[in-house]
Amino acid sequence: MEQYINELNDAQKAPVLHKEGPLMVIAGAGSGKTRVLTYRIAYLMSQGVDAFNILALTFTNKAAREMKKRIADIVGNSEAKNLWMGTFHSVFAKILRFEADKLGYPSNFTIYDTQDSQRLISSIIKEMSLDKDVYKYKQVQSRISSYKNSLITVKAYFNNPELVEADAMAKRPRMGDIYKEYVERCFKAGAMDFDDLLLKTNELLTRFPDVLMKYQDRFRYILVDEYQDTNHSQYLIVRALSDRFQNICVVGDDAQSIYAFRGANINNILNYQKDYDNVKVYRLEQNYRSTQNIVKAANSIIEKNKSRLDKVVWTENEDGPQIKVHRSVTDAEEGRFVSSSIFDNKMQHQLPNGHFAVLYRTNSQSRAIEDALRKKDIPYRIYGGLSFYQRKEIKDVLGYLRLVINPKDEEALKRVINFPTRGIGQTTMDKLTVAANHYGRAIFEVMENLDKIDLKINSGTKRKLDDFVTMIKSFQITNQASDAFVLAEQVAKKTGILQEFKKDGTPEGIARMENVEELLNGIKDFVEGQKELADATGSMAEFLEDVALATDLDKDTGDDDRVALMTIHLAKGLEFPYVYIVGMEEDLFPSAMSMNTRSELEEERRLFYVALTRAEKQAYLTYTQSRYRWGKLIDAEPSRFIEEIDDQYLEYITPVETNYRFKPMIDSDIFGEVDKSKLRLKKPVSSTPPGKKGPTESQLRKLRKLKPELDQPVGNTNLFDGDLTVGTLVSHTRFGKGEIVRMEGVGNDKKAEIKFENGGIKKLLLRFAKLNII
Ligand code: ATP
Ligand code: MG
Repeated sequence: MEQYINELNDAQKAPVLHKEGPLMVIAGAGSGKTRVLTYRIAYLMSQGVDAFNILALTFTNKAAREMKKRIADIVGNSEAKNLWMGTFHSVFAKILRFEADKLGYPSNFTIYDTQDSQRLISSIIKEMSLDKDVYKYKQVQSRISSYKNSLITVKAYFNNPELVEADAMAKRPRMGDIYKEYVERCFKAGAMDFDDLLLKTNELLTRFPDVLMKYQDRFRYILVDEYQDTNHSQYLIVRALSDRFQNICVVGDDAQSIYAFRGANINNILNYQKDYDNVKVYRLEQNYRSTQNIVKAANSIIEKNKSRLDKVVWTENEDGPQIKVHRSVTDAEEGRFVSSSIFDNKMQHQLPNGHFAVLYRTNSQSRAIEDALRKKDIPYRIYGGLSFYQRKEIKDVLGYLRLVINPKDEEALKRVINFPTRGIGQTTMDKLTVAANHYGRAIFEVMENLDKIDLKINSGTKRKLDDFVTMIKSFQITNQASDAFVLAEQVAKKTGILQEFKKDGTPEGIARMENVEELLNGIKDFVEGQKELADATGSMAEFLEDVALATDLDKDTGDDDRVALMTIHLAKGLEFPYVYIVGMEEDLFPSAMSMNTRSELEEERRLFYVALTRAEKQAYLTYTQSRYRWGKLIDAEPSRFIEEIDDQYLEYITPVETNYRFKPMIDSDIFGEVDKSKLRLKKPVSSTPPGKKGPTESQLRKLRKLKPELDQPVGNTNLFDGDLTVGTLVSHTRFGKGEIVRMEGVGNDKKAEIKFENGGIKKLLLRFAKLNII
């Protein structure tokens, strides 16, 4: 163990060797907080603490797995196996399964993902005949989610006139009724949504003191990574569990708190010292991840935030290159720059794809980057988009599997009852739903008892419903006797799903079939893997829980070598040698939605701090002057965050040659009265929306540097000067091949009249025309 302790600096050793009692490590990015947590666990175990008594909560399950691997290296595999590690959701889902009966839930409860929750809310809104434009299901869902994360139950909601009033004011007076119905329907379906996993854990720990005692006694040492982003519900769980032994170790960085929009409460870190007695606070200052330039640039940004704990971050690493800033004209060009730059760096330094990450503010930005990477044959992987398990065909198969495990699961039933088509229509479903609501039963239970109630369903449909029930029950028998793979294969075949996609015959159908096969392979792997573990059986219930809680990051085994594409939010805690932060534009980053208050803007700035501090060797900031957003091409101006970085850490690299490469063409029609605004060459001042603060003088100076064309003529003139004369054969991207028949003007105004093969004669301004000599 001593040998491992020496892999830490003195500041890191102190919290690792800390004996009993609460401690907090508060430190900037890349200073080894996660490493401290990992080594502390190994150290505790080397001191005789039973792995069984340790609980570690991480931001992703992948992080937990990696930690466990590292700990296994130090203390041995058989010891490390018993550690409880994972995200709040996955750890407490397991505990809830053990204790489900106390809360009136079956132990095989389903976990509804966000999509399931939204579908259910959407049907409730419809059943209540509410206006779906007023009661937007996504908004309603996020509202319910925030109630739950603040531990506001339905009862608490109705007892709180302020909340009721607020929803009434927002023209949604039935909000509480929807909440109530939603909670009842989930309960009846034996389902918990993501927020329930925390809410119900809290309920369990407060209502059942003996259960609380049991877990307090079990988890004598609790460790939490990324503590700055815990929400109220998570905070209360940690607080309750650690109350008895107070061996609680949290690590975090207030400057990286980026989930306030999802209820994370930075006060959890700020108040920690008040919550426990004799808290020992440790600080780390030395960054091991990034170059001097990156660390200093990141410091210069975060200093702009008013509300923050004072922290020092420095590094002994080399200066490294400056952060490169690149401007392009369109987002497609931005994509091309990123892919070429990755390609060049790979070639020049002989690096694998996995050394590169492209980070963006919103998921939709990935498309242009993907297109460009594909064209260059650079393998990439998107995290956090539509994940494999959210694809339609996969959800269909999973729907059946969920129903086998928990037939009350309403969302699963609705998804598969008529897929593949078996003639059970919406009218029948409506009748079943009404009856289910009336009897307070699940829809499947109504279906099992069709002959006892008169639903006015004709005998043909009744038979189809019976067949469906019989099929699901036969799967249940298989489930009892076999592992997850056997069941899944039977379901894929007997339900006709595979057949349905095969029959389809279209490329999409085939792709879907292959995806289902891929799912089966995945289940096979899972079963093999689980069989090696002491406390797992490889059952379908285990698999479904894994799927419900897996994030894309979790599935990343690092086996295949790909460029990583993800939102900055997802990148928290990760590191890559080369990081491209794209879309550095006002209204995008900082987001247009976050500019109303100082605290929102500060959260965006923290997000930028997180993004920049992911880079080990080199960071790139790219922005474009126009971008398609909400279906429209809009002008964009550089993000204020570029301006906020101290100039000495930046290098502007936009090559002159690419300035006009992908500029819109002007042909002879509009030639003569060139409207600069059409070329998106407006001075930034004029593109500042009314009411918004215009750029400062220093900003303008910098912008001029970023946009050389504002001050000096550049462009193709430089390239072609002298080469183009009457008679030169040229080709143009849009008009094809042609011959120059006339030249006129000088310098910036130089024009060529070209006779194109397709017949037309165009007069082009050479400054902008993209011509190649042939
Ligand atoms: P973040 O705030 O981004 O989560 P962190 O504070 O958790 O960062 P780590 O991820 O633990 O930092 O460490 C950053 C990098 O520095 C890792 O690659 C880690 O292995 C390395 N590192 C940390 N401490 C040391 C050390 N004492 N010697 C060498 N490398 C170290
Ligand atoms: Mg970390």
